[in-house]
Amino acid sequence: MRPEPGVTRLRHVGIVGAGLAGLAAAVAAAAAGVHVEVFDAAPDVAAPPAQIDVVPNLVRDLSALGLAEACVRRGFAYRGVSVVDAYGRAHFEIETPALGGARLPAAIGMPYAELLRVLRDSALARGAVVHWQCTVCGVEAPAARPHIALADGRRHRFDLVVMAGAADVAGIELPLHAGGERLPQRWDYVLLPRPQGLDQVTWVVGPGRTKAMIVPVSMREAGLALLRDERMAGAPAAGTPAQLRAALAVEGDLLARLGESLRDDATVVGRPVRSGLLAGAWHVGAVLRLGSSAHVLPPHFGQAAAQSVEDAAVLGDLLRADLERDELLARFGARRATRAARVHALVSQAARWDLDPEPATDLAALARRLAPIVAHGA
Ligand SMILES: Cc1cc2nc3c(=O)[nH]c(=O)nc-3n(C[C@H](O)[C@H](O)[C@H](O)COP(=O)(O)OP(=O)(O)OC[C@H]3O[C@@H](n4cnc5c(N)ncnc54)[C@H](O)[C@@H]3O)c2cc1C
Repeated sequence: MRPEPGVTRLRHVGIVGAGLAGLAAAVAAAAAGVHVEVFDAAPDVAAPPAQIDVVPNLVRDLSALGLAEACVRRGFAYRGVSVVDAYGRAHFEIETPALGGARLPAAIGMPYAELLRVLRDSALARGAVVHWQCTVCGVEAPAARPHIALADGRRHRFDLVVMAGAADVAGIELPLHAGGERLPQRWDYVLLPRPQGLDQVTWVVGPGRTKAMIVPVSMREAGLALLRDERMAGAPAAGTPAQLRAALAVEGDLLARLGESLRDDATVVGRPVRSGLLAGAWHVGAVLRLGSSAHVLPPHFGQAAAQSVEDAAVLGDLLRADLERDELLARFGARRATRAARVHALVSQAARWDLDPEPATDLAALARRLAPIVAHGA
C-alpha cells in the first residue's frame, strides 16, 4: 500500500533551536525544497563574543550549503595551525588541507555571531520561517505527525521535528544526560586586537602547561581561548580580563603580551568542557536529534561546530532524495552515528589528555588520526 501523502513524505519540518545546528539544518532543508519553521527561545541569534574556528571539513560542508564565500567575507581566511612554545618557537604544524576545493581557503576564523548571521540570513532567504522568542515546552514524538508545543499554549504539527541543541524539552527522552560528562576543565574565550602578523591559528603551550589557542577572526580582531584546569587550587570559577591577564603574565612573552592587549571592559565567556554522545538511535518516532542534542564535543579540532553542520548537510541530502520518513531516519543514522562516534572518541581523548597527558597520545597524533575520518563528507 502506498503511504499516505504528506504523512511519511517530508514536506514540513519543524526545528527546535536556532543555534548552529538548527540554522544549518534550516538552510539545508529549505534548499531541499521543504517548508521549514524554526523555534528559538532567544530574541535573535545568541552568540557569545568569541571566535569560531571554521576548520577544513566545516569549510567543505558550508561550501556545499553555498555559504563558504559569505564566511570568507565576514571572517579571516587563515593558512594553517601552528603549535608553539611560550616564546613563539614552533613545535609542530597541524595539517590544514583545503577540503572545500581550490577556490576556497583551507580554514576561516570568524566571530561566532557572524557565522550564525550568515546561517540565519541564508535560511530566511531560502524561505525558512524563524520564530524567535518561542520557547518549546514539549514535543509529542511518537505521533504520525509530531507536535511542537510552545510555552504560550500554541501547538504546531509537522512531518518531522528536529531537536537541534535544545536538550530540556518535555516529551523527548534524551539519553544524553545533562549534556554529557563534565570534565574538570573550562575554556575562557575573549576577543582582543589581532597580534601583528598573526595569520594562522596558534596553539601556545606555556611553561605551567597552560594552553591557549589564538584564532584571527578579522583584520582587526583575534579570539583567544585559554584552558583552565579546575582541579588547580584557586582556579577562578569564571575569568575576568584582570584574571586572564594575571594568568597570562607568568606564561612567557607571547601570552603575557596578549594579556596586556586585553581591554578591561572585554567580555570573557567561560565554556565548561563536556563530552557526550547519544546512546542508541538518533531519533524517537518522528523526532530527530542533531547538533549538541546528539553529541557534545570538547573544543579540540573545531569538531563541535563541524559535526553539527555535518548533521545538517546529511539531513539536507536525504530530504532532497524525497525519501519516506522511516527510510530517511534509518539512512541518517547509518551515515552519522558511527562517524560521529569516531570523531567524538578522538576529540574527547584530546580533552582528557590536556588534564592528564599520556605519552602515547599527543595532539599531533590525534590530529593525524582524525584527518582521514573527516577528509570526505559523510
Ligand atoms: C564561547 C564558545 C566558543 C565556541 N567555539 C567553538 C569553536 O571554535 N569550534 C567549535 O567546533 N565549537 C565551538 N563552540 C561550541 C559550539 O558552539 C557548539 O558545538 C554548537 O553551538 C552546538 O550547536 P547547537 O545548535 O547544537 O546548540 P546551541 O548553539 O546551544 O543552540 C541551541 C539553541 O536552542 C535554543 N533553545 C534551547 N532550548 C530551547 C527551547 N526549549 N525552546 C526553544 N529554543 C531553545 C537556544 O536558545 C539556542 O539558540 C563554542 C562554544 C562556545 C560557548
